[in-house]
Amino acid sequence: MRHDVINPATAGVITTIPLAGVEDAEAAIGRAAAAYPAWRAVAPADRGRLLRRFAEVVDAHLEELAQLEVANSGHTIGNARWEAGNVRDVLTYYSAAPERLFGRQIPVAGGIDLTFREPLGVVSVIVPWNFPMPIAGWGFVPAIAAGNTVLLKPAELTPLTALRLAELALEAGLPEGVLQVIAGRGSVVGGRMVTHPAVRKICFTGSTEVGTRIMAQAATGVKRVTLELGGKSANVVFADADLAKAAAQAPYGVFDNAGQDCCARSRILVQRTVYDRFLELLEPAVRNLRVTDPASEQSEMGPLISARQREVVDSFVEPDRVAFQGSCPSGPGFWYPPTVLLAETGEERHWREEIFGPVVSVLPFDDEADAIRLANDTEYGLSGSIWTTNLGRALRVARGVETGNLSVNSHSSVRYSTPFGGFKQSGLGRELGPDALDSFTEVKNVFIATGE
Ligand code: NAD
Repeated sequence: MRHDVINPATAGVITTIPLAGVEDAEAAIGRAAAAYPAWRAVAPADRGRLLRRFAEVVDAHLEELAQLEVANSGHTIGNARWEAGNVRDVLTYYSAAPERLFGRQIPVAGGIDLTFREPLGVVSVIVPWNFPMPIAGWGFVPAIAAGNTVLLKPAELTPLTALRLAELALEAGLPEGVLQVIAGRGSVVGGRMVTHPAVRKICFTGSTEVGTRIMAQAATGVKRVTLELGGKSANVVFADADLAKAAAQAPYGVFDNAGQDCCARSRILVQRTVYDRFLELLEPAVRNLRVTDPASEQSEMGPLISARQREVVDSFVEPDRVAFQGSCPSGPGFWYPPTVLLAETGEERHWREEIFGPVVSVLPFDDEADAIRLANDTEYGLSGSIWTTNLGRALRVARGVETGNLSVNSHSSVRYSTPFGGFKQSGLGRELGPDALDSFTEVKNVFIATGE
């Protein structure tokens, strides 16, 4: 079966690729299983060297990968360069891991007790369309660093950079079968990548709906799962914040990647005493956002990924709740203007559900306790921001908000060296930083008797 890959900025076909079927998935899992014993036996320093070489090859192809992402995903060229650079940096970071997968020596009677961190075997990495390169890297890099072999499936809409990364892995000298990428339908290829008995772990990023199903399927076979799912994160602005800065930064906290970001701060909570002033400051920041051809160096926001996604996003926008909107190109492509909606009760659909588009809702709150209550009034818990100049308040609220990644006076969520993941229905397990390796290894305990 062939599949058209579309440029979301023009709605034109970029290329046509073959789609794998169940038999292809099974053959690839077979190759990953066959490659595993030799890969886990590669000396730690050599495995590290191969990952560093892979990082260098990615770096040498950074512009090519970035341009491919601009065309396939409509990401701005600035973002796409960061994303390709992130794959390189994650490879470099985890290239140190093989030599640092330490065990412990635990004092016991009658002998020596040692622990080892063993790889799991074949790992399935299933990736969504919103950040094809970084999310692929966050899964496959620590997995192979720990000695596993990986089969990775990109989303149907955005396969091109992942397919290219698999070629670059071979160019860098990674043995065949260590990292394979197959493009195929989620329900078909993805389904087999979850149920196949040789697969020991599923590392899934995507919707809470599909993630829930995968977790249930993984129970048969007691497969390990890491889930990175949806979000509806709060940006909490207190009256004592640097209001001009909070308002100027708010659009970037939610409209980056056209809002198709699991960490999007899509609920802005503003203390009532500064609510009107904040909206006055927010309006020019939203109107001035440069929404244009993502290939342009000036572009700050590109199109949505598909016509379908644009319909979904638009279904949340009730015209009488629109406070103001930015602009976007007309004509071909799946464009949508940055949009600010006013919430009243916190019960509105646009306040409660993940929109995954450039739409943000604003709601006033009264005091600190009210802010924490409203921020936590969601089944999600991935990210969030707190704007205040009061350090004690920043820490109290950060401890009170049930979410995995918070930033104070900024909107940063992701650094390759720090853990990333969700509370509640936003996920299970942690990626990146030192924690990710725990998800791709098992602890083995060995006792050696020293008595006669
Ligand atoms: P999706 O759940 O529809 O698809 C994600 C991936 O799963 C795709 O590769 C798809 O082909 C595959 N898939 C679909 N059905 C499957 C099945 N039955 N078995 C196995 N695989 C299957 O998600 P999407 O629309 O591509 O991405 C958007 C969602 O991803 C949003 O909800 C967003 O919040 C979430 N997301 C979360 C994070 C995070 O880190 N928490 C990061 C990015 C995106």
